[in-house]
Amino acid sequence: MLKRIGVMGGTFDPVHIGHLRMAEEALEAFGFDELLFIPAADPPHKTEKSLRAFEHRLRMLELAVDAHPKFRVSDLEGRLPGKSYTVITLGRLQEEYGPEAELYFLVGLDAFVELDTWWNYRELFERARMVVLSRPGYEEEDVGLFLARKVSPFYEMDRNCTSFTHPTLLPVHCMKNTHLEISSTLIRRLSSQGRSIRYLVLPEVLRYIEKNKLYRGLSNPVQ
Ligand code: ATP
Ligand code: MG
Repeated sequence: MLKRIGVMGGTFDPVHIGHLRMAEEALEAFGFDELLFIPAADPPHKTEKSLRAFEHRLRMLELAVDAHPKFRVSDLEGRLPGKSYTVITLGRLQEEYGPEAELYFLVGLDAFVELDTWWNYRELFERARMVVLSRPGYEEEDVGLFLARKVSPFYEMDRNCTSFTHPTLLPVHCMKNTHLEISSTLIRRLSSQGRSIRYLVLPEVLRYIEKNKLYRGLSNPVQ
């Protein structure tokens, strides 16, 4: 039996219950043996100075997933030099896990429809199966449109509209999940205003943020 590995990338500045619940629902639906959270060290989309240090973001993830038997955190992008590119990360994971593992890259629909701005994005569809998670304000049909326009016209949708298959590329799956309208941006904003973020992040993460004063007095919390 092939091992199924879920992979979730992001800046996780900080990790919140939206991320965790999304990961839990995907894990349950796809029966992953393991789900890796991979914080981006130096994401091409966000400027470096606007992010908390990689070590802080990594540590918050470790605190958040510690009690989960199948969630893991990988510092892989922190160990790779230069910008963090998902295609490279997935290649490394393929090498690490070998041919007996299937990688499933989890991505919210908001991020999916912007994948064409990622470096060498077409290659993502060769390296990992995709699981596209629904997000408020985004239509599921955007998945098929994006694939046909930006990746390949040869995708075929299954009868339940939950998967797309392709003669040479890996399948793309869609998943409906509980919508929690929480973002790290919201948490940074509340925290920088001295307001409560309790119940938006796990208690361990809340303590870490407070102890290290991570988001106090940010002049622009959107960053
Ligand atoms: P920011 O506000 O800084 O952009 P974020 O909350 O959007 O942060 P990211 O680290 O940018 O978090 O996102 C990582 C991944 O998590 C993306 O695939 C994104 O679609 C997904 N994601 C973010 N927030 C949620 C949420 N509330 N529910 C489900 N998935 C989410
Ligand atoms: Mg985001």
